[in-house]
Amino acid sequence: MIPQISVRYLNHSHFNCYASLINKLSLLSRTCSSASDNALKLNYINGQRCHVADEAEERFKIREPATNKLIGNLSSSGPKTVNDGVKSALSAFPEWSAQTSIDRGRALLRISKLLRQRNEEIARLEVRDTGKPISEARCDVESAAECFEYFGGIAATLSGQHFEFANGSFAYTKREPLGVCVGIGAWNFPIQIVSWKTAPALACGNTIVYKPSQMTPMSSSLLGDIITEAGLPLGCYNVVQGGSQTGRLLCEHPSVAKVSFTGSVPVGKKIMSYCSSGVKHSTIELGGKSPLIVFPDSDIDNAVSGTLMANFLSQGQVCSNAARVYIHDSIIDDFVTRLMERTKKMIIGDPFKQETQVGALISEEHYHRVKAYIDQAVTEGARIRCGGERVVFDNSELAGGFYMSPCVLDSCHDDMTIVKEEVFGPVVSILSFKDEEEVLERANNTVFGLSAGVFTKDIQRAHRVIAKLQAGSCWINNYNIYPTGFPFGGYKESGIGRENCAQTLNHYSQLKTVYVEMGDVDCPF
Ligand code: NAD
Repeated sequence: MIPQISVRYLNHSHFNCYASLINKLSLLSRTCSSASDNALKLNYINGQRCHVADEAEERFKIREPATNKLIGNLSSSGPKTVNDGVKSALSAFPEWSAQTSIDRGRALLRISKLLRQRNEEIARLEVRDTGKPISEARCDVESAAECFEYFGGIAATLSGQHFEFANGSFAYTKREPLGVCVGIGAWNFPIQIVSWKTAPALACGNTIVYKPSQMTPMSSSLLGDIITEAGLPLGCYNVVQGGSQTGRLLCEHPSVAKVSFTGSVPVGKKIMSYCSSGVKHSTIELGGKSPLIVFPDSDIDNAVSGTLMANFLSQGQVCSNAARVYIHDSIIDDFVTRLMERTKKMIIGDPFKQETQVGALISEEHYHRVKAYIDQAVTEGARIRCGGERVVFDNSELAGGFYMSPCVLDSCHDDMTIVKEEVFGPVVSILSFKDEEEVLERANNTVFGLSAGVFTKDIQRAHRVIAKLQAGSCWINNYNIYPTGFPFGGYKESGIGRENCAQTLNHYSQLKTVYVEMGDVDCPF
């Protein structure tokens, strides 16, 4: 039995507005019954939306997390469709890669502008697909616009080096595009993930085929409309929808030069093995189980704010979340009391409403997965201090959605399953520690290494602790902020490569070295 909290829901008027927007976009009908006649036209090939040409075996139902209502059916792209997408990207490559980097940069700036102009429309699609609060979705779209702006701005910095040798001979290097890149994304930040892959790929002169998660297919197709409107050669950006079968076909396609993947560790390992057959470049952005350490000299309210940021954005479905929060035992009672007070005040509800802070989990299945982790934690000795329950909105369209009140667990210890595995939900585990050395060892005792954070007013301790934490993206006295340009990526099993930064250009280009002889060949034969 799932304990249920009933919350009165007042109105859901945006719902109808949203339906008309969707219809206007000709994406789908609200009550689709069969995949064959109502399959969504969400592939994007050669500058236009299209249906899949041949279907892979996998079929998906797309549901709106806020209501759990069926939006439609998604056909997955089979070998012919995947090949069409790759061929489209291949045919656009000569023209796009021949443009000057300044011109490519300018085109990316036009994409950025259009993303900003259509922020509200895209944010609404994201809410519809993900169930996250509209206030967060608007930030996601703005961050996508900034990403294109950033890579548009630095496209022309792609350059090489010069090396001098004997007799005036020299060598130079230049960075060249890789060719056709594939992007495969997770469902939690759809517009941001597609932008983090597409903008640097295009900046370097590559073309791209993108496969979003089968759970959140909408915004990447809309990005196709925007890229075409921005005037890029048709075929520079393509979308093929589908699940694991489509993803594998893309990775193993012989004309694909690189795969950039965002998702779970087990799938990331498969992607690396698919890439190995063609010795393909790969960027791998995976999950985490990140630690946040709060020392007793911290400003406790500030550290509580950091803990909320580290755990409850997007219903806790954030890869870099610090779901393991280590609190010094001298402040743990005070800290947990203040954390509970603020957690209980979070506004759970209709994700389309501006004031909502906690929307719906991505699916019923995911809700039960998160709930099972909480139940197991309790049997292993954890104490629920608040939340972790299904929130049901009676008499409203939201009644079918899977909403969970944000959960604070204390009395946790390092051996619990919930402390070791990625839960990807609104659950924070509080653990106590006594000294710095001990907590560092415990924080690093994981296969993951995506992120980490520390709260302290002692500047030397802050840097000493961060230097010893095995994580790619770290914060001191804050958490989960990624301004554009902030390199993001993991250590250990959390991934390879960095996104959102200048370094990313190196991952989407290859280095050519040219030796120039200024004398005669000094041949020993
Ligand atoms: P997932 O690994 O199940 O799926 C990710 C993508 O891979 C989807 O598009 C899916 O269709 C595709 N896929 C699945 N199996 C495949 C296969 N065999 N071959 C090719 N493609 C395949 O992850 P998810 O459930 O969509 O997302 C949640 C995970 O993503 C979490 O682990 C989270 O931590 C991680 N994530 C990481 C980052 C990051 O930047 N490090 C960002 C967001 C999410």
